[in-house]
Amino acid sequence: MTPGIRPLIAGNWKMHGTLREAVQLAEALRDGVEGVDLLVCPPFPHLHAVAVALLGGRVAVGAQDCHAAQRGAHTGDVSAAMLRDAGATHVILGHSERRTNHGENDAAVLAKTEAALAAGLLPIICVGETEAERLAGLAESVVEKQLSGSVPYGFVTAGGIIAYEPVWAIGTGRTPTESDIAAIHAAIRRILVARFGPAARTTRLLYGGSVKPANAAAILALPEVDGALVGGASLVAADFLAIAGAVPR
Ligand code: PEP
Repeated sequence: MTPGIRPLIAGNWKMHGTLREAVQLAEALRDGVEGVDLLVCPPFPHLHAVAVALLGGRVAVGAQDCHAAQRGAHTGDVSAAMLRDAGATHVILGHSERRTNHGENDAAVLAKTEAALAAGLLPIICVGETEAERLAGLAESVVEKQLSGSVPYGFVTAGGIIAYEPVWAIGTGRTPTESDIAAIHAAIRRILVARFGPAARTTRLLYGGSVKPANAAAILALPEVDGALVGGASLVAADFLAIAGAVPR
């Protein structure tokens, strides 16, 4: 953890669950964990009902993507303002599944991030290398390029969040070594501070990729790891709460 930063454990529910299951999961998480910010990001159709179920609780709601435009002829898309209206406070942008499945590049993530900030949503920008890039020794330079292409002016002062998610660790049960995670997080901090100044010392840097109750304590204890973005394990209330409970305090 970075001293002085309030930890955040965010759950990415991806395209899982019925409306009923989403509300039940939200109800099971509602009381959260003392001293830790919790966030869940349900699929669009469940977002409002989940936000209502979480009203007055300790868990915030985010979305998994948004469009860069405010409105218009964009069939199937959702604007940042619509998400805000439905109860979201955060939005995940540039997840590797969006980059891979929808061809999103850094310029698209930048435009979406600007739209999210303009609508008053806190963006969580995902960056991370593929396995081939890591094996070629390019992890840090890939992340640096993604940051420089997708993080806009105003991101740090607005409280924007970065999630380091090595693509090869997502949903695979594999994670980088603790020293590899710490090295990339330190590099991300250096890059942000060099570009945005000391304000970036308190930007929250999340690690994501196969975080489970069994490995959460070790990962969350690393320097510059200010929380986690959790996929699979966020769908089981006990596991998600156990990960939040593993934040060192
Ligand atoms: C994710 O998709 O953001 C993620 C981290 O997934 P998982 O925890 O399942 O690896």
